[in-house]
Amino acid sequence: MSGTFTLINPATAQPIGEVARASVEQVDEAVARAVIAQRAWAGLAPVARADVLRSFARVVEAHVEELAQLEVRNSGHPIGSARWEASHVAQVLNFYAGAPERLSGRQIPVAGGLDVTFHEPYGVVGVIVPWNFPMTIASWGFAPALAAGNAVVLKPAELTPLTAIRLGELALEAGLPEGLFQVVTGSGSVVGQRFVSHPDVRKVVFTGSTSVGTDVAAGCARELKPVTLELGGKSANIVFADADLEKAAASAPGAVFDNAGQDCCARSRILVQRSVYDRFLELLEPAVAAWRVGDPADESTEMGPLISASHRSTVEGFLDGAEVAFRGSAPAADDPLAGGFWLPPTVVRADRGHRLAREEVFGPVVAVLPFDDEPDAIRLANDTIYGLAGSIWTENLGRAVRVARGVKSGVLSVNSHSSVRYSTPFGGMKASGLGRELGPDAAEHFTETKNVFFATDV
Ligand code: NAP
Ligand code: MG
Repeated sequence: MSGTFTLINPATAQPIGEVARASVEQVDEAVARAVIAQRAWAGLAPVARADVLRSFARVVEAHVEELAQLEVRNSGHPIGSARWEASHVAQVLNFYAGAPERLSGRQIPVAGGLDVTFHEPYGVVGVIVPWNFPMTIASWGFAPALAAGNAVVLKPAELTPLTAIRLGELALEAGLPEGLFQVVTGSGSVVGQRFVSHPDVRKVVFTGSTSVGTDVAAGCARELKPVTLELGGKSANIVFADADLEKAAASAPGAVFDNAGQDCCARSRILVQRSVYDRFLELLEPAVAAWRVGDPADESTEMGPLISASHRSTVEGFLDGAEVAFRGSAPAADDPLAGGFWLPPTVVRADRGHRLAREEVFGPVVAVLPFDDEPDAIRLANDTIYGLAGSIWTENLGRAVRVARGVKSGVLSVNSHSSVRYSTPFGGMKASGLGRELGPDAAEHFTETKNVFFATDV
């Protein structure tokens, strides 16, 4: 398949441009260029690779506003969030620019010689990105992969390719060698699938749904190709009776409605200890009412539209028969933006067995459930196939430690909702993924260990 794909501004439902769909042959050409570029790149002095990545970081930093505006138009992200995302890409590049000179191997004591290990790059790495955070998630793959001496072919989601395309141009402007970092637009079943099957793509990084990720992993297994998977989530925000309830309630909307709930880390279940359940909902209602939904270009907007009409109907489908406690706002019918893919933030009371209590919605819908005591909270938090993120609100230190150790998730925060920092590891347990991104070890994950023994016997 080739041809073009029409991009839509989700806040207006108006077309904003066309983007090319690459064919399998075009992917193969890109991979062939990457193979050549990678050999030269891996042969450079570590400090030379570090310098190029720092230059890439500076060029991205100088284009934060342009990248942010692209994301506003293509993805409907509020401008404040989009600026954070673009700056984050520069920070990720800066952080991993330190890696080429720090990828130390080991010297291992052995008899009769000297034994050392090398962290060898895989070669070409394929990075497949979803539509929810197009540039940040791309950078979590390409920055450490490049730092470790690999070339990267990147496939953005078909719906949201504009910032990735621009990052590919900025890389060349920054002095990255031709062919080292290529953005190939097109569909998952053609371009993404070819990354999986192409023998010269030696590692795949996939972020997206658990169902597609499972197929990608199966395809990579057939090629004996390592794969990192960042998949879905159904993260719990656990509020104990001894917590600072005002703070917990005030911060709960941001933890789930940020990016209109289209966030793998969204705290889409709020588990509240039964004795404070009613009080918590009383505090939550005004916080949800105050959550600012509207024009993504407006500096004060906190939440924009959903990504597409079809995704909005999927999200609405979850509300069939649900017990809605209260809702926030969305542009009204007479608003110039009324044609966009809006859905007001929605709070539901859900039973433990309900779909809303267990399945990923990926929209601005949060299920609130009561629990009885600490063991019940841990059991309920773990009662899902996912295990990505979560928050624990309590003033009791021992409880915070016990619950943090008991919840089977890769990324937890106590008395906050933070999930992503470029300097700390990120990733999921169970059906939320395999492997970790970001943090001090990510560049090493884009290498294979080689052991070399040098005989010293005469
Ligand atoms: P998706 O449908 O799984 O798509 C993700 C990416 O995979 C897209 O680029 C897609 O291409 C591509 N793809 C589709 N079919 C493929 C195939 N057969 N082989 C290779 N690639 C293929 O996910 P989505 O709907 O874009 O994103 C939403 C999901 O991502 C949610 O479940 C969310 O939780 C998850 N997510 C997880 C994280 C995390 O870090 N854990 C972060 C963000 C999102 P197209 O362009 O053709 O769609
Ligand atoms: Mg999809």
